[in-house]
Amino acid sequence: MSVTQTDTMEELIKKGFEFFDKHFPGGKKPDKMGVGPGRVNLIGEHTDYNEGYVLPMALPMVTIMLGRTNDTDTCRVVTASSDIDCAKESNYAEFKIPSIKPLSVGVPKWANYVKGVIACFQSIVVGFDAVILSSVPLGGGLSSSASLEVATYSFIEAITGNKTTQLVKKVMVCQNAEHMFAGVPCGIMDQFISVMGVDGHALLIDCKTLQHELVPFTDTNYLFLITNSNIHHELSDGQYQLRRFQCEEASDLLNVTSLRSATLDNLNRARDEGKINLVIYKRAKHVITEIERTKTAANVLSQGDYKKFGELMNESHNSLRDDFEVSCRELDQLVELARKVPGVLGSRMTGGGFGGCTITLVERNIVDLVVDIINSEYKQDPKFYVVSPSCGAKIFTSL
Ligand code: ADP
Ligand code: MG
Repeated sequence: MSVTQTDTMEELIKKGFEFFDKHFPGGKKPDKMGVGPGRVNLIGEHTDYNEGYVLPMALPMVTIMLGRTNDTDTCRVVTASSDIDCAKESNYAEFKIPSIKPLSVGVPKWANYVKGVIACFQSIVVGFDAVILSSVPLGGGLSSSASLEVATYSFIEAITGNKTTQLVKKVMVCQNAEHMFAGVPCGIMDQFISVMGVDGHALLIDCKTLQHELVPFTDTNYLFLITNSNIHHELSDGQYQLRRFQCEEASDLLNVTSLRSATLDNLNRARDEGKINLVIYKRAKHVITEIERTKTAANVLSQGDYKKFGELMNESHNSLRDDFEVSCRELDQLVELARKVPGVLGSRMTGGGFGGCTITLVERNIVDLVVDIINSEYKQDPKFYVVSPSCGAKIFTSL
């Protein structure tokens, strides 16, 4: 298996017109579109709920919602995704606009993301027919869910003509939709980068203040390789909750409102005074050092120091593996295999852990070699995506 080729936005649009015609035959053609990209986090893991920093980038893989108003009070949406559980779920959803009846969670489940955005949108929505197509793999840790929310929001902006000028509001509505309609208590990062991403830049987000800063990634000799481990260990949800509790316990013991305000000195003193047990110490150490690493990483990237950036990625992984203990054998193996190849600057797990993806900073001309080496040693059918930082949400008011 070599690098996965995903559809470009132009290819998705072409397929979208055909798909629309098939599902809504005889009517007018689509004339509006919203686009939301997936994302990957470069560094800053398990820092968001500790009021720290994250450094994600938007992916070239996107979700599009393509359609038009239908002069009725009904929204009709169909997804082209073959990844939803078609045996149990229809790929078609129909519901009345909220001014007729408040929207509620229901089936098919995927449509809850769409309904959530419409329910939380800033103005009255009109009836529409639309198709959804995506090049973001579903459930693969690259945030297809945020890309769907952001594509939906952008489409609604296009059909209502009511564009949100304060982009943070758009971010919050999409996050709220996921909380309230999909029941996922996600942080702010995914929707933030999907809305705000800029071509050729990562985005440093301060999860405490929501201040954000673009960080250029301009040297075309380097690329990021995402490797999907194809593993999802069942314990991930429970362990995630446990880590959150452990971080809270650490900040209580250190007498700070969040680990953002703690320092290694405080932590070491608490340990020396016997106030903190080893497990809580290690969890806090990861968070405190990761927050610093993320700030430093943004700084060195903006100076074009890719070598140092790669080293910080390695340190981040080691800390997640040894102190936060959220890696797993498969992720460690992928990282070790990549790091052995000359021309790899750094490699780490990305996302919550216990499976999901790794991200590797590589010189462009050795990507195929890294892929070959991983393929020959890693036996769980990995998937590879070669990516550079891409742009955020787009609104098309004519096509
Ligand atoms: P991730 O965001 O990491 O891809 P999630 O479990 O958070 O994984 O979100 C995946 C869910 O989002 C899918 O199961 C589906 O309900 C919904 N979804 C995402 N993209 C699409 C799409 N193109 N069509 C329909 N549903 C989608
Ligand atoms: Mg998601």
